Amino acid sequence: MASPEFDIVVIGGGSGGLVVAAGGSTLGAKVALVEKHKLGGDCLWYGCVPSKTLIKSAQIAFEMRNAQRWALTPADPQPSLARVMERVREVIAGIEPFDSPERFRGLGVDVIFGEGRFTSPEVFEVGGRRLTAKTFVIATGSRPAVPPIPGIETIRYLTNETVFDLREPVASLIVIGSGPIGCELAQAFRRLGSAVTVVDIASSALPREDPDMAAVVLRQLVAEGIGFHFDTTVANVTGAAGEIAATLRGKDGTEQVLTASHLLVAAGRRLNTEGLDLEAAGVALEQGRIVADDKLRTTNPHVYVVGDVAGGYQFTHVAEHHAGIVLRHAIFKLWWAKPSKVIPWCTFTDPELARVGISETDAKQRNVAHQVYRFPFEEIDRARTEGETEGFAKIITDGKGRLLGAAIVGLRAGELIAEYGLALTKGMHAKDISGVIHTYPTLASISRRVADQRMKEGLTPTAKTWIKRIFRLQGA
Ligand SMILES: Cc1cc2nc3c(=O)[nH]c(=O)nc-3n(C[C@H](O)[C@H](O)[C@H](O)COP(=O)(O)OP(=O)(O)OC[C@H]3O[C@@H](n4cnc5c(N)ncnc54)[C@H](O)[C@@H]3O)c2cc1C
Repeated sequence: MASPEFDIVVIGGGSGGLVVAAGGSTLGAKVALVEKHKLGGDCLWYGCVPSKTLIKSAQIAFEMRNAQRWALTPADPQPSLARVMERVREVIAGIEPFDSPERFRGLGVDVIFGEGRFTSPEVFEVGGRRLTAKTFVIATGSRPAVPPIPGIETIRYLTNETVFDLREPVASLIVIGSGPIGCELAQAFRRLGSAVTVVDIASSALPREDPDMAAVVLRQLVAEGIGFHFDTTVANVTGAAGEIAATLRGKDGTEQVLTASHLLVAAGRRLNTEGLDLEAAGVALEQGRIVADDKLRTTNPHVYVVGDVAGGYQFTHVAEHHAGIVLRHAIFKLWWAKPSKVIPWCTFTDPELARVGISETDAKQRNVAHQVYRFPFEEIDRARTEGETEGFAKIITDGKGRLLGAAIVGLRAGELIAEYGLALTKGMHAKDISGVIHTYPTLASISRRVADQRMKEGLTPTAKTWIKRIFRLQGA
């Protein structure tokens, strides 16, 4: 059989696919990248970049209105969604060249636009071309899951794929889903002047997080005037653009009608596996999920799956990490390389909620022997100077003080969690963090202070007695 035309063929040009393509080509592989729409994926066009840009404008609007907290005169920011979304567009445009077809072609990647499919375990066909490769990488991402609510198809509902195209004012917004995307966008729209109500079938917001941490976020969202209906389903929706009526049904069957100018669906994600003819490739699916081993290899050992479509943690940094693992396999033949189990993430509400490793809830549910230590931001001087003392840090350790998990809810939690990402990756103990000098005054000192709690606890009455004896101390 003729040798394959490419070393690597990547299907999907988002966060994961682009890193495989750029990395592969830079390392000397012959790479083709197939994209059905435009390079950049969800993160650039409909996810991280637009949402974090929107959140920044919303945060400034909030701080202007509440400027008395910093001894300044409050001002009305008079938000115009059209102008804010124009800024979102500009930020995307500023990043886009890094993900452009020209850049990738310049790196030597064969960029092919079109929607193709496998015709055999060795061939992927697109636009009349038969692509053969030593390694195929499926990096097709995910899309919003739209619940089968009666009437939903008759209204113009929003998802993360359309919400950033809005230019008209949003007087009122119903958000279906109180996960990270729902909470982030609910708060942003509220701060930009919309009346916002969140509806969720779950009994609380951010259900993947420990309840005590999620409660800090929820308290802030409620304080800002966002309405929440938990344990509630949307029984049906009716109306036209600008006048949407949603019938909410509580757990006890009681119904009420909620009206709003707009409705946003943020109720989970579906994996983009359709249309690829995975069966022809010998790639098995189980309940809509591509079957893969712990090294991201599918049931066809030449086909890998990375990023959201792999069905695990759906974050840009995970997609990029997966890409690095696939490159180790495809280029350096490091067959044993596996994705890290230490995955940090952050919900970018204000306050932010970030986590890495096991949660307190996980530890209890899995019967893992553990200890929990907390430290509040109100005892961190920098949090006081910032006027942002909400929230706390929490670490979970084993009996010997080895770190199992950490979570932070508060200002800049997404940045602060990185230290614990390193600590968990390196198998460190609380004493390792406790022994690091942290710059004063920084929010990061909360990482040391929470680890100090473990050290203080290690000081048993017997140890204290011995210290007193040895060093002839006078204390009681
Ligand atoms: C509102 C929102 C906010 C988010 N915020 C964050 C955040 O703050 N931090 C974070 O880490 N993550 C965030 N995410 C998640 C992040 O965007 C995704 O995890 C990331 O984009 C996944 O990368 P990927 O490469 O798997 O998929 P994508 O980046 O979505 O790329 C998939 C690509 O494949 C293409 N494609 C699909 N099907 C085919 C096909 N059949 N043939 C060819 N091409 C195809 C698509 O057009 C797309 O370009 C957010 C997501 C959303 C929706």
